[in-house]
Amino acid sequence: MIKIINTEEFSYFLRVNRNEIIKKWLGKSEVQNVLHKHSLPFIDKNTHIFHEFCDCFISVLQWNSTISECQAKMGFLQLLNNYNVTSAELFTMITRLRTSVEEIIFENGNLSFSLQSEIETLALEMANELSSNFEIVRDGKYDYKSENSNLLTEYKKAVDLSNIVSKTNPKGVITYVNERFCEISGYTKDELIGKPHNIIRHPDMQREAFKDLWDTIKSKKSWHGIVTNMKKDGGQYIVDTTVVPILDVDGDITEYIAIRHDITELEETKQQLRTINKAMKNKVDELYTMTNSLEEKANKDNLTGINNRDSFEESFSTEIKRAKESNLPLSLMLFDIDNFKSINDTYGHQAGDSILIDMTSIISNNIKTSDIFARWGGEEFVILMVNTSLEGALNLAEKLRELIEVHRFNYRDKITASFGVTEFDSEDDKTTLFEKADEALYVAKKNGKNRVEMKTTV
Ligand code: GH3
Ligand code: MG
Ligand code: MG
Repeated sequence: MIKIINTEEFSYFLRVNRNEIIKKWLGKSEVQNVLHKHSLPFIDKNTHIFHEFCDCFISVLQWNSTISECQAKMGFLQLLNNYNVTSAELFTMITRLRTSVEEIIFENGNLSFSLQSEIETLALEMANELSSNFEIVRDGKYDYKSENSNLLTEYKKAVDLSNIVSKTNPKGVITYVNERFCEISGYTKDELIGKPHNIIRHPDMQREAFKDLWDTIKSKKSWHGIVTNMKKDGGQYIVDTTVVPILDVDGDITEYIAIRHDITELEETKQQLRTINKAMKNKVDELYTMTNSLEEKANKDNLTGINNRDSFEESFSTEIKRAKESNLPLSLMLFDIDNFKSINDTYGHQAGDSILIDMTSIISNNIKTSDIFARWGGEEFVILMVNTSLEGALNLAEKLRELIEVHRFNYRDKITASFGVTEFDSEDDKTTLFEKADEALYVAKKNGKNRVEMKTTV
């Protein structure tokens, strides 16, 4: 059981029960007579126009007028104008509507006494005010600016205060603008009236946006969207826009009313936020790249740019684990430049450095990408060869030994290196595998340097 006790609830009730009210209201013979007499559109024939008509009536009855309701009231007067209803008939229709509303309320719950009398007073007041306006309509002198229309003047004031309003004829030529329109656009009324509405079109606005607007309003529907307009001085302003087509008795468009809210500040703030967001994203990307390059640096040897010992140790553990699981061969090669101390002693440390750099580039260019090449320390290097048997590792070591031997380095024509090679055995761990290669290298040095030696068991 619903008990309506205040006007707010009453407004809500009207909205919720709109369809039922319309149905009941239409059922009243007095209303039917008026509708028939003036050939007003019937529900079957022209549902949307009829509902518009009824909605206008209902919004007139609502006490808490919002701006859109004010607009509905204006539309209501416009409709009456179109249909030539007399003021007596108007009064009949309003009282009938009130009865329909009351009937529905009493079916659902209680209507408080004060509200009942409020509706009564309201219905009478509305009937009087509207009918006085309506007389002007019938005399053909009706004008929204009419001094006689207190009600309309108030509504218009409310709309004009908070909205940018304009009207155009069906071809888009401006027929009316309010003060706010002039203020924001920088044009005077005289500069605007009679001009095509696209006088304020901003060159940045997509043509498709206007196509959508025109397609919509030409099909007699309202259009709503965000539009960027251009001021007289070339500046821009952004407006949340609603364009409503106004129809005559035959359903033809007589004019368009556009009502806009200035949302320039809001849109500009949004744009600033987007810019800030983008800048922040770039900074985050930059930091991400920096972190990556720092991480990379931490894994590389400063002088030669190849993997350092720490990063090698990491890969070493991973590959041993993988070899154990997969049973695929894994080989390790250790090599050390021969008599490097004498190079440093003879040509200086810088010459030694340059030779180390040249040597790593020879090696890097002659191994597979799957081979893990690192500087173990000083002039000693290591290569871990995944999926490579001892034979393959020995071949590679021999090839590298020769390449170094034949290369003509700066400072010193001939430089050689000694190699120790071994293959992973299922019993091996990191230490034993490394020890085998180290021992092979020791043997290579002992046996005269510039040679490759291998060791298969611990
Ligand atoms: P062997 O044939 O037995 O390996 O003799 P070697 O002289 O190469 O070996 P030793 O270990 O006696 O000397 C290695 C030298 O390598 C000593 C050190 O000064 C030099 N060295 C180590 N790291 C660098 C480096 O980064 N740059 C330069 N220029 N020299 C280095
Ligand atoms: Mg050496
Ligand atoms: Mg050494």
